[in-house]
Amino acid sequence: RRQLNRLRREPSRTLDGTDIKLWANAESREDVAEAHALGAAGVGLYRTEFLFMGSREIPDEETQFRTYRDAVIGMTGRTVTIRTLDLGADKADKTGLALRDEPNPALGLRGVRLSLAREGLLHTQLRAIVRASGYGPVRILVPMISGAEEMRTVRAMLRGVLAEVRAQGHEVAAQVPLGAMIEVPSAALALPAFIGACDFLSIGTNDLVQYLLAADRNNDALGELYTPLHPAVLRLLRDVVRIANRRGKPVAVCGEIAGDPLFVPLLLALGLGELSLHPATLLEVRRAIRACDLSLLRTRAPALLRARDRAGIEQWLAANTPEHS
Ligand code: PEP
Ligand code: MG
Repeated sequence: RRQLNRLRREPSRTLDGTDIKLWANAESREDVAEAHALGAAGVGLYRTEFLFMGSREIPDEETQFRTYRDAVIGMTGRTVTIRTLDLGADKADKTGLALRDEPNPALGLRGVRLSLAREGLLHTQLRAIVRASGYGPVRILVPMISGAEEMRTVRAMLRGVLAEVRAQGHEVAAQVPLGAMIEVPSAALALPAFIGACDFLSIGTNDLVQYLLAADRNNDALGELYTPLHPAVLRLLRDVVRIANRRGKPVAVCGEIAGDPLFVPLLLALGLGELSLHPATLLEVRRAIRACDLSLLRTRAPALLRARDRAGIEQWLAANTPEHS
C-alpha cells in the first residue's frame, strides 16, 4: 500500500517513456475527490444517471448544474467528461423515465435513445452541463450511440444550447467537445461514417462485449461467455483505435477492462493511449503501465491478434505480463 501510495505523484509513463493518460470514472463527489488526490488526468467518465437513480423526481436544471459544476470545480482545471443520461436496462430509476416492462430492455429505450425520446430531457441536461463549463474544462460524452443520426442530432442540439445559454449571459467555455461512447457494435463498425461528428471517443467495453457476443453482462449463468478475451473483441478494439488515431481523435477505453492491471499490456499492445477507470485501482494500473515496455508490446500485437480463442489470449497475457507489475 505504501509503495502504491508513492505513485500518487508519479507519471503514468511506460518504461520506454510514453505517457498514458489515466482518467478516472466517477459517479459521486467522493469519486471526484479521490480522482483528484490520485493524480488522475481528469474525469474520463462521469456517470450522471446516479443523480437520477437516487431520486423520485427528475432532477431539474439547477440541481444538475450544481452537481456538474461541483465536479468541475473539484478537478481544479483538469477536464471532466460528463456522460449524458444512460438510464434503462440495468440502470433502472425511480423517476419513471425508463420504461418498466420492455420485452428486451438491453435492446430497448436506453441511453441516448431515451434521452432523445423524452421531451426536454436532453435539452435540460445539455444546458446544465454547458453552464458548468464556465467553471473549468468539460467534455460531453453520449452513451449508446448506434450510428451517425443520433450523433448529428445531439450535436445540433448542443449547438443550439450553447447559443441559447450564451445569449442568456452565462459564461461558458469557448469549446465543449462532444464525444461518442463506442459500445454498440454498429457504432464501431460504422465509425468512419460518423467520426467526423465526434471530437473524441470512449470505448465502453462492458456493453460492447455484451452486444458483440450476445452475452448479458449481468447474467452469471453465462460464466465465461461474457468476456473481453475474445478475438472478435480484440479485433474491434484494434480497428476503433486505428480509425481514431488516423483521424487524430482522442480515444479511451472506459469499461471495467481498463481498471484491471492484468489487462494493461493487452490494451497498450492494441494501441490505446488513454484509459478511464474507477479510482479504486488507479494506482495499481499506473504501476502496471510503469512496468510495460510499449515498443516491445506493439511488436507483439500481431501475435495477440492471431490468438484463436480465450486460451490463446490468456497465453499471450501470461507471456507479456511484466514481472513487477
Ligand atoms: C461500458 O458500457 O463499458 C461503460 C463504461 O458504461 P456502463 O458500464 O455505465 O454501461
Ligand atoms: Mg455502457
